[in-house]
Amino acid sequence: MLELSTPIKFVKRVGERVAVELAKRGVETVEDLLYHLPFRYEDRLNPVPMSALQAGTMASVIGEVRGSALLHTRHMPLFEMTVGQGLNTVKAMWFRGTYLRDKFHVGQMVALYGKLEPSRSNAGKFKMIQPQFEILPSHGGPDAEFSMLEVGRIVPVYESLGGTTAWGAKLGSKWLRRVIWSLFEELEAAGSSGMHPILRGETAKDGAPELRGPGESDFVETLPGALRKRLKLPGRLEALKAVHFPEAGTPMTELMSAATPAHRRLIFEELFYLELGLELKRRRMREREGTAFATNVKVREAIKQVLPFHPTAAQKRVLGEIATDMRKPQPMRRLLQGDVGSGKTIVAMQAALVAIENGYQAALMAPTEILATQHYLSARKLLGDVLSPRTGRPYRVTLLTGSLDEAAKREARGRIFRGETDLAIGTHALIEDKVDFDNLGLVIVDEQHRFGVQQRFRLMKKPGALDPDVLVMTATPIPRTLALTLYGDLDASVIDELPPGRTPIVTRRTTEERAEDVWQFVRKQVEAGRQAYIVYPVIEGAKDDQPELDFPRDEEVEDLNAAAGKKTAGPSTALRSAQDDTSVKGMTRTKAAAATKTKGKAVKTEKLFEPKKVLRAATDMYDELRMGPLAGLRLGLLHGRLSADDKEVTMRRFQRGDIDVLIATTVIEVGVDVSNASVMVIEHAERFGLAQMHQLRGRVGRGAAKSYCILMTGGKVSEQVEARLDAMVRTQNGFELAELDLQQRGPGEFFGTRQAGLPEFRVANLIRDRAVLELAKTEAAKFAESPDPAVSREERDAVWTRLKQQWQRKYGLVEA
Ligand code: ADP
Ligand code: MG
Repeated sequence: MLELSTPIKFVKRVGERVAVELAKRGVETVEDLLYHLPFRYEDRLNPVPMSALQAGTMASVIGEVRGSALLHTRHMPLFEMTVGQGLNTVKAMWFRGTYLRDKFHVGQMVALYGKLEPSRSNAGKFKMIQPQFEILPSHGGPDAEFSMLEVGRIVPVYESLGGTTAWGAKLGSKWLRRVIWSLFEELEAAGSSGMHPILRGETAKDGAPELRGPGESDFVETLPGALRKRLKLPGRLEALKAVHFPEAGTPMTELMSAATPAHRRLIFEELFYLELGLELKRRRMREREGTAFATNVKVREAIKQVLPFHPTAAQKRVLGEIATDMRKPQPMRRLLQGDVGSGKTIVAMQAALVAIENGYQAALMAPTEILATQHYLSARKLLGDVLSPRTGRPYRVTLLTGSLDEAAKREARGRIFRGETDLAIGTHALIEDKVDFDNLGLVIVDEQHRFGVQQRFRLMKKPGALDPDVLVMTATPIPRTLALTLYGDLDASVIDELPPGRTPIVTRRTTEERAEDVWQFVRKQVEAGRQAYIVYPVIEGAKDDQPELDFPRDEEVEDLNAAAGKKTAGPSTALRSAQDDTSVKGMTRTKAAAATKTKGKAVKTEKLFEPKKVLRAATDMYDELRMGPLAGLRLGLLHGRLSADDKEVTMRRFQRGDIDVLIATTVIEVGVDVSNASVMVIEHAERFGLAQMHQLRGRVGRGAAKSYCILMTGGKVSEQVEARLDAMVRTQNGFELAELDLQQRGPGEFFGTRQAGLPEFRVANLIRDRAVLELAKTEAAKFAESPDPAVSREERDAVWTRLKQQWQRKYGLVEA
């Protein structure tokens, strides 16, 4: 008998061989397959008649093959086919379409899906370039049995699962429809005979227990009946069926935006369990034991004497929130959000002083050596000359980064271990196993978005009698609900105000051809006493360098886990549908030239745009500018492949003003703070993401001088790049830019899903489904808070059991 947990190989039409293929895509059980949801639908019940088609729209068209031909153009073979409906016809074209030659024959019925474009040679007619197609079953043909799945209904379209059947057919939409359809038939047959647990209860309208615990065979319904009734959510299996095979009359717009009641039910379920888990974590955290720091007059004295300026109202408020947390006996778990340049560092230093003045150690962790070193230097400057009111001696600050030599590292570790340091500043080296603290009271993680969740948790879990307080800081502006989900175990504080005296940064776009003007401008600024950054996407030659981090990303950690036999999830639905959008847009925009064959690859459409040319690289341009346009100025070079010493020396010289222009890679993206710098030039701006450009721009405008950000591009850029650059010019608001970034990249990419520790969803999309997320959050809090008398004890227990299993299986990463 089929159950949700039945291995997929036992499903009709699947078998051993195909099961192996499916497993590669994370589909191992009946349940996995049922959750492989359609990413779009075609209305083949009421298809738009060809006479009513409109140029520029995405359309699905059903018609009869009237003729086809393989043409040999100058560049590539082109397969053309005419599809007709009465007197109307549409022409479909596929580039490199040789493989289609024998696929179609006259008289066949086909369904096409793609963007309609006006025919150039034939006024009033349309063409479709690279449409998706399906050959429809014919009466009495071998496929007739399935014609009800393909025509005369709203038809689901699936992302292919890759691989082929034993006889070489693709595991695409057609195949999936058939397998999933027969799956439902089997489940329903079992249900109606009263034998099968899956549908038993589903159809019962009278409050029969629908939620089962494990051990009682499969537990199918996952939400308490009372909750479903109140929120008007359909049953789980019913919802799945309606999402795969929508009833006639379901509005297409709702289907396409995943807004049908069936979709909402599945989305809610997923988000409810996520939020419930987070809620539970928050509750547990409140029960943990931490240090209750004092914030008395003496401590406040200590803070005051190091403050180099008057804090802004926002800084004061946030410090107040932090101090309140630190006073409590529970460990603090707080997220500090604040746009670039909003002044998070000083708040962190103040928090550190609270811990230190209470006789504890504080640790500050930064994602790059440059930033760690900079924090170390400014901490020394800030704390160097003052005495601690508590001990009467100077504060002791220690730097620990990966590239220190062994002896130096050993020494630093020793000082930390023996309690001879008050504030340890470093990179991931701080969380290496060899580092033990004497009595760590506070952990601060700067630029949290650059760290993996696992790293954050490792530092939080330092052994010791009590949990240290934790403050994580990020400049990534995330809408509040998302922040609360992403950092669901944290309380949030926001610095929403910039220090006084800042003038807006003037942002301009220009092209490489105008480089001369840019260099002239840089010269002028230097003559006026300012400093400048010029940033390149790569270090040297044509090698592609990625933002340089000083630790392995979580993906790598994940890979290790995977190697150790842990299951990793497949790509999220959200990400997949985002990719699909890109592919559709990309295809029409690039016309045929860059049209891509498969959806999976389509994300890279943008790259196809860029002329194949050697990128200007930091080291080469350092030489070129030094000899040429910027001759006579003092130039410095900074990138991740320099030794730590060289980096530090260069950074210090730039800070002291001994370097006028710093040629750099994205190593300076985060945190670097030199207030006299007033120009940020980004070459190959088309290569940078919005978040990155915003961060880079944040390196200037830190002082009173008027600052400039110049975005240079070479050659023609894609629409997406245009949108990014325009947004940069238009606004300096991090939240606005983040919204666009989210739209362009989708949540998976935006958060760097694994990197951020965001769970991958099967149905939900955090951006699209924000409203449901809010609802799920409220309901989860309610559920955890007080038992709803309408929900039976068994149902509650089943929810908790499911939660536990699910969190272990899916969100194992977030569990700490
Ligand atoms: P971020 O939030 O990006 O880490 P920083 O902490 O580096 O920002 O602060 C940006 C700059 O603003 C630094 O030069 C810092 O000294 C300065 N700054 C921070 N707070 C204030 C303030 N209240 N008044 C004046 N300058 C400030
Ligand atoms: Mg900072």
